[in-house]
Amino acid sequence: MDDAHDGRSERQDRATPGGGMAIEIPDPIPSYDSAEQANPPVVLTRPGHPIRRADIDPDALRIMSRLQRMGFVAYLCGGAVRDLMLGRKPKDFDVATDARPGQIRKRFANVYVIGRRFRLAHVHFPGGKIIEVATFRREPERGDDPAPALPAAAGGETPPAAAFEPRELPDPHAIYGTPREDAFRRDITINALFYDPEIDAVIDYVGGLEDMRRRRVRTIGDPGTRFDEDPVRVWRVLRHAARLGFDIDPETGRAIASHRHLIATAPGSRLYEEFNKDLAYETRVVFQALRANGLLRHILGRAGLAYEADPALFDRLASLLDVEERARREGFLLAIEEMYALVFWPWLEPEFESGGEDMVPVLTAAFQNAAMRMTIPKTLKSNAVQILVLVEGLIRALRTGRLRAALLHRAHLPQATRLAFLIETGRPPADHETFETLFRAAHPGAQPEPRQGRRRRRRRRKKGGGGNGGTTPQGA
Ligand code: ATP
Ligand code: MG
Repeated sequence: MDDAHDGRSERQDRATPGGGMAIEIPDPIPSYDSAEQANPPVVLTRPGHPIRRADIDPDALRIMSRLQRMGFVAYLCGGAVRDLMLGRKPKDFDVATDARPGQIRKRFANVYVIGRRFRLAHVHFPGGKIIEVATFRREPERGDDPAPALPAAAGGETPPAAAFEPRELPDPHAIYGTPREDAFRRDITINALFYDPEIDAVIDYVGGLEDMRRRRVRTIGDPGTRFDEDPVRVWRVLRHAARLGFDIDPETGRAIASHRHLIATAPGSRLYEEFNKDLAYETRVVFQALRANGLLRHILGRAGLAYEADPALFDRLASLLDVEERARREGFLLAIEEMYALVFWPWLEPEFESGGEDMVPVLTAAFQNAAMRMTIPKTLKSNAVQILVLVEGLIRALRTGRLRAALLHRAHLPQATRLAFLIETGRPPADHETFETLFRAAHPGAQPEPRQGRRRRRRRRKKGGGGNGGTTPQGA
């Protein structure tokens, strides 16, 4: 059990691949020893765990083994270990290491160090794959959080992410930590397991293995304290419990009830980040849990309230999300603006009953009036609105058999077509299908209608005629 960590104290002495010694480590190596000896982690080797190397992304394995050969500690961490333990396919393979971002950048090709609050190394691979390699860090102590969460600005709209960036780079010693500290700063126990590929063992500092056996989600440490530190964790507990079908530990559950409203104090940019994680997969069960716990209103303002208060409206959303999930499993992925349009479609559909000619400002105003805590980037919001307006036009055409030809020339036709298929047929379009094929199948013989009677005819002005300086619009 202790083998895994006895080896760690010698890591400075290991030779680097170049034959020299690993001497270039500018920051003091954290001492793992005292806490480690008093309270060693549980180290579970095969066949005690089900993780097989073949299930781990080969590039993540290569990164870890290279870091380890260089004398660093490198573990698979977070959701990947959790999912592999449960026989689920991980969404991504994150690596945790004691190498600093700068050290990783020097030693690997195609590394981009991102983030200001916490610097992370992204190792890029052909085909767009990115492996995130994060340095072990610790929970900042109260008062030394480099970027304290500010309450949302008045008026419901929250400032953009940049407003929350620290002015100076934080002191690295206040951020980085040991593997133990890194495990303890995480949110829930089942998300804090490490997998060490070198010894083929799962390393558990926080009781995550036990919680996995009991199929329960539990915060690491006192839930009230952890939710006070970061209220977004309430959301994360609900999301992970919903997706895994796990119970929520009773103490954690009680703290959710008393802390959920604090979600509204988190920066809008963080809510946006977390919302995108909900949208990444298995969205319906997560939304159900958010609704059942009254969180939607804190995230989505009036849109969330509407989904909470009106079961039929929420059912409509839930069945659309099921359609989307089925399509996703078959490889049909919606772009982010399409996903946002889908999620807000049931809420906004009644707006169209007003029958206004230009619905873009109407929907934009609905977003504005919703007073969402979450900050949706402007371009994303405006694209989602344009898509929604077109989706409604297409759906109306399908229902009435009257299709205005002009709709077929709108910029967002491909996106709106995909959504119209999902909404009206419950499936995505096949490769050869366009909106017109769908329309013609529903209404054989119907033709797209050119715009009639409304086009202003421009009268050619005679030379020298007019006499009004040409500033008055011609025609009616
Ligand atoms: P998924 O597989 O759905 O992405 P995940 O567990 O990987 O789930 P992420 O949001 O990608 O979740 O976060 C990665 C890891 O970072 C988590 O497993 C958790 O250990 C840690 N983490 C993320 N957010 C927090 C937070 N607010 N507080 C503490 N730890 C967090
Ligand atoms: Mg993840």
